[in-house]
Formats: sequence, structure tokens, C-alpha cells
Amino acid sequence: MRTLELTLYLPCPILCNYCPQDVLRDNYTGQKEMSLNDLEKYLGMIPKDVRIDLSGMSESLLYTHFVELIRILENNKLNYCVYTTLFGITEEKLEALRNYPPNPFVIHVPDVSMRLKINESYLEFFDKISESNNPPLTHYACFDSPQDGIKINKNYDPHSRAGNNKEIYTSVKNGKAHCSLSKDFDHNVLLPNGDIILCCMDYGLTGRLGNLNDNSYEEIRNNIGDVNKKICGSCIY
Ligand code: SF4
Ligand code: SF4
Repeated sequence: MRTLELTLYLPCPILCNYCPQDVLRDNYTGQKEMSLNDLEKYLGMIPKDVRIDLSGMSESLLYTHFVELIRILENNKLNYCVYTTLFGITEEKLEALRNYPPNPFVIHVPDVSMRLKINESYLEFFDKISESNNPPLTHYACFDSPQDGIKINKNYDPHSRAGNNKEIYTSVKNGKAHCSLSKDFDHNVLLPNGDIILCCMDYGLTGRLGNLNDNSYEEIRNNIGDVNKKICGSCIY
């Protein structure tokens, strides 16, 4: 399935130590947060068969216009999924998610590698969502030991983000450019400045396909053959 992940602002304040936000910061130019006008414009350009992923390279629940974002997705009849740490959740945002539920809905469990720490309010939301299963929870993702208070039991694996985090072991596929997630390299990422890049492992922004301010989504997708896929050789996928 064609997928477009949204990175709605950057950098991500959660600062997981396995996430190379410094590499992203050093390579990105342009506005730091997507305006509401740009969001409406960009999502209006996306074909209906493309799933929108609220994941990307920053926590989407901390986006200023999150509630409006869900309304725009619904108005445009776009399917979407959410990968979230739940940092930034409020009653209003939870209501929006319940009214137009994502699928899948994955909670990236707060762990000891995150700079941001959970509190009582966070735990109330975490337990409420887990117990009610509303919106329906697909699964938990866990990349390190959960922070105190989180009630789940899950194994975890380190992740190098296609070699962008130099401190984590990287599996190398002999430098080959293939992707087990997307045969046609069609799990791309939209950045706040309108750029679309190869994927959510491309923190160095080496695989730029184009910009929605200059071209249609399909025109940008047609550039995929020329895009730099060198990082794929250092990626676990
Ligand atoms: S892994 Fe996700 S939550 Fe952690 S810093 Fe990166 S984008 Fe933010
Ligand atoms: S870097 Fe990894 S996830 Fe991204 S396109 Fe290459 S193989 Fe797929």
C-alpha cells in the first residue's frame, strides 16, 4: 500500500537516544512547523489510495493543529494510521481519534531512552486508552526498557535508523537497495516545507523526491528511480 508519513514539525522534543534528530537538524532547511494552510493544501493533493501515517520523524500528537489534522483527513476521506508515544495527548485529541479512528493504532511505549518523562496525567491517558481499547489498539512498540509505571511486558530491539545512529549496531545487506517494507519504495515522508523524501529512516535527507509546492504527488513519485537509496544498504528493512 502506498503510504505518506507526515513529519509535521521538527525537531522532536522527546529525543529518544536511538533517534538521530541531530542529523535531521543539521540537514533540514525551511519552516520548522507545517502551517494549517499548507497542511490543507498538501493533504488535498494526496490520492485516496495513499494511506497517511501520523508517524514520520516527530511525535504527531504534539503538533499544534492535531485536531484540525484529523478533521482534514476525515473530510478528504483519507485512511490513516498512528504511531505515537502518546506524549501530547489531551481529551480533545483523544475525542478526535475516537471519532475518526486510525488503523493501525500503535503505541510507542515511553522508555528509559527518552529525554521526556511520563507523569501522572500521562499514565491516566495510557491506562484509559489501553483498558478501553478505544481507539482500537493494534499493538505496542518498544525499543528499550519501559519507564516506571508503564504496565506492559514486551521485548525490545535497538534500531539504527538505517545507520543514521552510529552508536547502534547496523545490519548491512551488502549495500543492496531493496526494501522489505515497500517493494516500490512507496512509503515516503512529507516534511513541513513540502519536501517528500525516501522514507522515515532518511534522517540525513539524502533521498529527496520533490516538493508538493512544485509538483503533484504522482509527478514526485515518478522520480523514485533517480532517488538516492544508498542508506537502504544499512537498513534492517
Ligand atoms: S523515535 Fe519518535 S518519539 Fe523518539 S525522538 Fe524520534 S520521532 Fe521522537
Ligand atoms: S532505508 Fe530502509 S526503510 Fe527506507 S526505503 Fe531503504 S530499506 Fe526501506
